[in-house]
Amino acid sequence: MTIKNILTFSLLVASQVLYANNLNTDITDYIIRADYDNTAKTLNVNLQMKVDNLHSGKIDLIFTHFAKISSLYVQEGKNKISLDYLFFRKDSIRLILPEKIKTSKKQTITFEYSFPIDSVSGSKSGIYTFSRAEKWYPLQYNDLSTHTLTISVPDNFTTLSTGDLISKVEKIRRKTYLWSDKYNFTCPLFIFESNALKFITKTTENKNINFYFYTKDTLIQNKFINIVCASFAYFYNFFNGDYPYSTYSYIEIPDYQAGSATGSLQVFGTPLISDCYSNGLLECLKPASHEVAHEWWGIGRLHFKDKTKEEGLQFLRESINEYLNIMFIGQYWGADSLTKCLQIALSYYKQYVNNDNEKVLFEIPQQFSTWEEAVVVYYKGVLIVNELRKMLGDTKWEKFIKKYYSTYKNKYATYNDFIRTLSQFDKKGTITTRLNNYLKTKGFQEINWNN
Ligand SMILES: [Zn+2]
Repeated sequence: MTIKNILTFSLLVASQVLYANNLNTDITDYIIRADYDNTAKTLNVNLQMKVDNLHSGKIDLIFTHFAKISSLYVQEGKNKISLDYLFFRKDSIRLILPEKIKTSKKQTITFEYSFPIDSVSGSKSGIYTFSRAEKWYPLQYNDLSTHTLTISVPDNFTTLSTGDLISKVEKIRRKTYLWSDKYNFTCPLFIFESNALKFITKTTENKNINFYFYTKDTLIQNKFINIVCASFAYFYNFFNGDYPYSTYSYIEIPDYQAGSATGSLQVFGTPLISDCYSNGLLECLKPASHEVAHEWWGIGRLHFKDKTKEEGLQFLRESINEYLNIMFIGQYWGADSLTKCLQIALSYYKQYVNNDNEKVLFEIPQQFSTWEEAVVVYYKGVLIVNELRKMLGDTKWEKFIKKYYSTYKNKYATYNDFIRTLSQFDKKGTITTRLNNYLKTKGFQEINWNN
């Protein structure tokens, strides 16, 4: 296994440095209309952002510095009130709000802008990725906003986003897609020539599972189809059929080094597929089902806050998600596979982490600064979750995980919430004490992981 496999598990690429320091202005909804001009290679956008708790003075947002803004205003009745703005730092914009804007009520801020499509990833492959990392629309972290996205492209192009495809209209050499997402917090967009990716659709649990493959190897395609569909069915049933969309999509991107989940959609980098040939199928396919698990845990339905210093964040979002994944692996490939995953985890932890370089899991932030931090999260982390499962016993473990999920789904949850739920299954508090100890200390010698 190489370092890129660890990166596979990361939600966001670590190089992102982002800022937003608003006084609790909430963005609740976006209405985005975008046109892709393939001749000028630009994306032209009209975006309405609904906000609550607007404060007079300023509002800072994350937004690509490539954007050329032609108009920026707040609509009050029949009046358009233009806003001054300035770009600052890297990819941040400050809007200056004049006193006359009524800040007490809900407002809509409209942006009209364009930017060169080559400023987002995909310029080499022609499969353009507009994700939160590209900051292609103004946003701030940790808003749980809804969105609709109307995207028009030349008729030989295809688009993909999160949520449900409400309509696809073809008119005079253009196609217009309408995507709507009532649950997701981010609005990714993919634009590519239709023949660049192989489209295959399957049905499982009455949902369409759509695949867009870059790899031409049909054997590999089938392996991914099987594991994505099987893991989707597993987690769908584990979380009691709780999935609000009609589709789930898997898109493979040739120049992307990682895998990520964005809600109803996973992105998988072609470089990871080379592991199928070098390291075997388990190592290669496991990241795909990890991202499927995120559809419910940590990204899709149950959220943990980004860019905060919340303690236990990585344990909650990633260690537990990876453990749920290897529970699926154990069911898919047999119980031996679960044991093998735990053995791999232990050997990685022992190989890379020692008393000098270990940072305790409880304090590891969202963005890794070292390889060892990632090893602690994805390997020591699953061993700790395995201990938690053994302490509770299988029946209580499942009840506990499902209870925590159902109590906090569609909200942000914290480690204190986790402990609060755990206390219902740990009346004496001994399990909580041991868990805290595992998360807050270095080393792992005290655990007998064999039983
Ligand atoms: Zn993950």
